Amino acid sequence: MIEHDVIIVGGGLAGTRAAVEIAKTDPRLSVAVIAKTHPIRSHSVAAQGGMAATLKNVDEADTWEAHAFDTVKGSDYLADQDAVEILTREAPDVVIDLEHMGVLFSRLPDGRIAQRAFGGHSHKRTCYAADKTGHAILHELVSNLRRYGVQIYDEWYVMRLILEEGQAKGLVMFRIRDAQIEVVRAKAVMFATGGYGRVYNTTSNDYASTGDGLAMTAAAGLPLEDMEFVQFHPTGLYPVGVLISEAVRGEGAYLMNSEGDRFMATYAPSRMELAPRDITSRAIVKEIRAGRGIHPDGSAGGAFVHLDVRHLGQEQIMSRIPFCWEEAHRLVGIDAVHQPIPVRPTVHYSMGGIPTNINGQVRSSPDGLVEGFFAAGETACVSVHGANRLGSNSLLECVVYGRRTGATIAQYVQDRKFPHVDEPRYITEAQQKVQALLDKPGQYRIDQIRQAFQDCMTEYCGVFRSESLMQEGLEKLKAIRQQAESIYLDDKGILWNTELTEALELQSLLLVGEVILASALNRRESRGAHSREDYVDRDDPNFLKHTLAYYSPAGVEIRYMPVTMTRFEPQERKY
Ligand SMILES: Cc1cc2nc3c(=O)[nH]c(=O)nc-3n(C[C@H](O)[C@H](O)[C@H](O)COP(=O)(O)OP(=O)(O)OC[C@H]3O[C@@H](n4cnc5c(N)ncnc54)[C@H](O)[C@@H]3O)c2cc1C
Repeated sequence: MIEHDVIIVGGGLAGTRAAVEIAKTDPRLSVAVIAKTHPIRSHSVAAQGGMAATLKNVDEADTWEAHAFDTVKGSDYLADQDAVEILTREAPDVVIDLEHMGVLFSRLPDGRIAQRAFGGHSHKRTCYAADKTGHAILHELVSNLRRYGVQIYDEWYVMRLILEEGQAKGLVMFRIRDAQIEVVRAKAVMFATGGYGRVYNTTSNDYASTGDGLAMTAAAGLPLEDMEFVQFHPTGLYPVGVLISEAVRGEGAYLMNSEGDRFMATYAPSRMELAPRDITSRAIVKEIRAGRGIHPDGSAGGAFVHLDVRHLGQEQIMSRIPFCWEEAHRLVGIDAVHQPIPVRPTVHYSMGGIPTNINGQVRSSPDGLVEGFFAAGETACVSVHGANRLGSNSLLECVVYGRRTGATIAQYVQDRKFPHVDEPRYITEAQQKVQALLDKPGQYRIDQIRQAFQDCMTEYCGVFRSESLMQEGLEKLKAIRQQAESIYLDDKGILWNTELTEALELQSLLLVGEVILASALNRRESRGAHSREDYVDRDDPNFLKHTLAYYSPAGVEIRYMPVTMTRFEPQERKY
């Protein structure tokens, strides 16, 4: 049996930052990072616009308290304010720390780190590396893994969390190359498995964002928090859905409807294009529904609006947002220097996730903790984003809470013994599961079921929701889950059988989708990204609380948990 003091699943920003912290704190510990991709191909590498921190390089009036307030207001008051305080107070320090590791941020003429405007932030505080920030940070962190001797298992797929008697003891994984199954035991297990964008048919996320960590946690009987809050990013490139970064609006781009109006004046007059994402996404959908969307031939009534950067001029476009220009050019043939970019909302981020306390330890209930189990990054819900995340706060969360969780784990494993794990039992069960998938005589291909599922989630649990719509969605989902029992794999081999991972990922997606729908159905109010047409107002007396959803094959049970308030009283949210 493989054993490490600490195993971290996920090679994105959260997992790698935690691993570096543990190895730096106590070089004697054996630390491993497991990823189903190569770590450098984690979705973090695609992050574009930047990372917020009150360095005050551009705006001296900025303070961490202002950052905290913007974050809490942006969250529609659902964020836990103790967690937000940590996030925003530690932000400048983690940026400097990354710089010392070698991250090349963009600069001001005097050599200090440059900062730009971002949606929902009241000051210019987003640090960036052009529009390739995730790339710059992740490459340095992965280099540092090697420097500190962290063992990397790349292209291993983790299929099960071993949780016994309220303690995480290890996991079961297989090597994608040859389906070799291994059990790993550890004194601490950390999940940093990223988001679930692939639950929907249009997303900015990579193909690996299938919510596996969430599904494994829920399947082990642990709750998932606030899963109804799915972030739609306003500017997905039409029709492909890939991201056109908020940095584009941070640099001054306009959103225009078919009448050539900057319609954000109607929805958020003081912030215009830099309103938070939930508000901007709803505005775009409303414009499209009202017939003021645009068709590819330029006529009214189509399915997208325009994002216009022409007034910025070629030099600013090419120096500040070159990657966005390239995406539009490469994917839909638009030269943004001379033409507006077609955009519409695309699924982008998961506000909810595995519930943790402020040290990254996973919760089993509102006041219980799981021994030996930690989580950070997009898969976790600590909760700093509440009902709606502000742009450039996620990379920050990964680094602040990755570092913090790493520090906690380095202490936690001291003087602890390896747990007992019944290796043969777990190997046999995993082998049977894999064999059963390979042998399936079913009638549906994986992508048929996946597409039907993604269409179902998009139609019945999208930007706007209602009781009847979501009830119908749950019924449809039940039928799809039944059909998913009868999938078949074309490839019956074990060498590089990517269909096998897709079949397992499909199981993750289906479970996560059901939890999202059930959580959304139970929240009878509109808050942040969760917008109900039958309950249009926020309802603090009844719903200023976190959802905890417990999955079982029989259904999803919903409980609630209080929100931590420290300094900001809920107010009406206006921009
Ligand atoms: C296009 C795009 C642009 C963005 N831009 C910004 C931005 O400018 N600023 C900002 O703050 N945020 C941005 N975000 C959000 C931010 O990038 C992510 O929330 C963050 O990077 C997530 O990091 P992570 O470490 O939690 O997970 P990820 O980087 O998603 O990594 C997940 C890891 O888990 C591994 N994994 C998952 N399941 C398994 C399994 N079953 N077995 C083994 N390994 C597994 C994967 O291989 C991967 O290594 C952006 C997101 C997208 C999609």
